[in-house]
Amino acid sequence: MSMDFKEQVYVVEIVKGLMITIRNLLRNMMNMRGMPTISYPEIMKAVAHRYRGRHRLTQKEDGMLKCTACMLCATACPAKCIQIEAKEGADGEAEKYPSLYNIDMLECVYCGLCVEACPCDAIRMDTGIHPPPADSREKFIYRIEDLTTYPEIKNPRDPV
Ligand code: SF4
Ligand code: SF4
Repeated sequence: MSMDFKEQVYVVEIVKGLMITIRNLLRNMMNMRGMPTISYPEIMKAVAHRYRGRHRLTQKEDGMLKCTACMLCATACPAKCIQIEAKEGADGEAEKYPSLYNIDMLECVYCGLCVEACPCDAIRMDTGIHPPPADSREKFIYRIEDLTTYPEIKNPRDPV
């Protein structure tokens, strides 16, 4: 495509582009409610009824994690974003338990296969909670304390 002189010096085209940008900016500023963006996280859109929400690790009545560190969820996970380290159980009830259970939420695709794979009902996606925004990658790695229903409960089998 051949360009005429005006187009070749770019100045006119740059000014035309800026005019479009400014026109859209002013139009949106005068109609904030009609803008397609929302001020997340202060304003959140309603999520679909079938939305599963962020994961949680379930616990027994005594507060112990139900998870037996069998690794089935990590094996089924297509994103390979679950990291588990198993320890020998000391209470005689379960052979193993996870001393570390991390999910990298930036890699998770919310497919729910980890939940389907678990034979112990130890992981669920029934919270309906949208993962909060964070300002570092580290904060998107959810650990046992983030994945238990009550954030103050640490894995009770770990030494204090
Ligand atoms: S929801 Fe899917 S991608 Fe996310 S941790 Fe579970 S299996 Fe992996
Ligand atoms: S959450 Fe379930 S599938 Fe995953 S390691 Fe624990 S017991 Fe196994």
